[in-house]
Amino acid sequence: MASKATVVWLRDELRVHDNALLAEAAKRGAPVLPVFCLDPRVFDASAKSDLGSAQKTGARRAKFVLESLEDLRGSLKDLGSGLVVRRGSPQQVLADICEELGDITIISSEAACSEEQRDEAAVAEIASLTKVWDGTLYHRDDLAYVPFKDQFTAWRTSVEKGDTPVRADCFPRPRDLPAPPSCSGLDDAIPSLTDLGYGDASVDKRGDFFDPRGGESAALERLQRYVWDEDRLKTYFDTRNGMVGQGYSTKFAPWLARGCLSPRRVAHECARYEQERVANKSTYWVKFELTWRDYFVYYAHKYGERLFFPYGVKGSSQKWRVDSNALRAWKEGRTGAPLVDANMRELLKTGFMSNRGRQNVASYLVHDLGLDWRLGAEHFEELLVDYTPESNWGNWHAAAGLSGGRINRFNILKQSKDYDANGEYVKLWCPELEKVPAPSCHAPWLLSSSDKERLGVDYPPPLKTLGFKGGGKKGPPPKKAKGGDRDKIKAKRRHKSRVQASYL
Ligand code: FAD
Repeated sequence: MASKATVVWLRDELRVHDNALLAEAAKRGAPVLPVFCLDPRVFDASAKSDLGSAQKTGARRAKFVLESLEDLRGSLKDLGSGLVVRRGSPQQVLADICEELGDITIISSEAACSEEQRDEAAVAEIASLTKVWDGTLYHRDDLAYVPFKDQFTAWRTSVEKGDTPVRADCFPRPRDLPAPPSCSGLDDAIPSLTDLGYGDASVDKRGDFFDPRGGESAALERLQRYVWDEDRLKTYFDTRNGMVGQGYSTKFAPWLARGCLSPRRVAHECARYEQERVANKSTYWVKFELTWRDYFVYYAHKYGERLFFPYGVKGSSQKWRVDSNALRAWKEGRTGAPLVDANMRELLKTGFMSNRGRQNVASYLVHDLGLDWRLGAEHFEELLVDYTPESNWGNWHAAAGLSGGRINRFNILKQSKDYDANGEYVKLWCPELEKVPAPSCHAPWLLSSSDKERLGVDYPPPLKTLGFKGGGKKGPPPKKAKGGDRDKIKAKRRHKSRVQASYL
């Protein structure tokens, strides 16, 4: 039996089911020590994003991670193991543990993004590091004969045509794990949000909002609720573009992101549902969405550091504007475009935004305002509870047209009409528009002064004049109204285009 302790360095694999790292450690037969590092470069209220435009991790995601760690520690204890949670960079924490325990080996997952890969390189200097593949629907080894393609549809089609299996029964939840070696920190309290310098992490629960609790237990409860108790899987395809309430989409993302839920577990649950209840386009479509998630993981593996370059992986020649007022208005939900504002306010107050919303606000920032997409990505990085570098930066690449695929420029007014026809969503987050009937609530700048007065509308003027047809006007957007500019904008608004007028 091997005697060197095996340290399992956990990052986004905060579960005991289908966990490749724990399965690998259990095989070795040596004492196993699971460790999580609360790296102050990431988990600290003062830590800034790379461009310095946002916090690295917002309070709600930090809270979700701490809850996940509590839950994981409980599950590991039930298996006869434990969890060390220490503040410090992985390099520093694991070096300290190595010094305390003597000779150790380390197991980690194989990260797709450069920052995490740099940590791996630093940790590999401390002790022998084995990296195992974890966290995707399709295991990389099973895709060895399916070359990655930059176009999602082309890649997904070859994956599906190749009949690539989602591995069966993953790694079963271990019945027990080898006991941990004696190590300081095993019984220490997990730091609190306040210890990490954070303040309020509360969530505005407007509109039957789903407030996720971190951890594997809550993840499996959500899976049970969505698939079985509320029987929503069979209608996912039809509801997935919704924006109000907890049930229009799975809301699995926060748990998938932190590895509290394995995508294979989700796929197996869908397959069981198909056997026991119904198989249709909706039951297939959840797996389809999880394939998007995999796509961005493999995309990040392929392009490495280039995921974060301003001109993307193909070296686009697009020039990005810098306009701190417009950026601030976008972040705070004051652009004057209600669909964008409602989504940005929801993000700010909850840490979540629907996929429909994300597509729209990203398109608006990039194509209507012409602002540097990375500032949008950093804002999402701070606030999204389900943030992952691969899915976030990859989706922003797609939104900014940097990945060589189709450019998704959305017409905000058409999207408002298609996805919020009665204005329910916009009014939920923009109560200033409560009394304005749809569709006018989506274009309040077109209301006459007397209607505005009658309906009590006090809404910011639009940063960008939006039209119903096409993708909005080309060229730089008008500057935010200030002093004398207001008159000019008012005058402009008097000349409504026929297109705009036809919207109302
Ligand atoms: P569902 O609609 O129920 O989908 C099921 C699962 O499929 C999701 O939980 C997610 O894991 C996966 N999925 C669905 N769509 C996508 C997609 N486009 N890309 C990758 N995975 C997908 N998703 C994240 O998990 N983390 C992010 O940081 C993130 N940032 C995004 C940024 C932008 C600009 C955009 C346009 C999308 C982003 N997404 C991100 C993808 C998507 O919006 C969310 O996964 C989804 O809204 C989460 O809600 P849900 O779990 O109810 O999703």
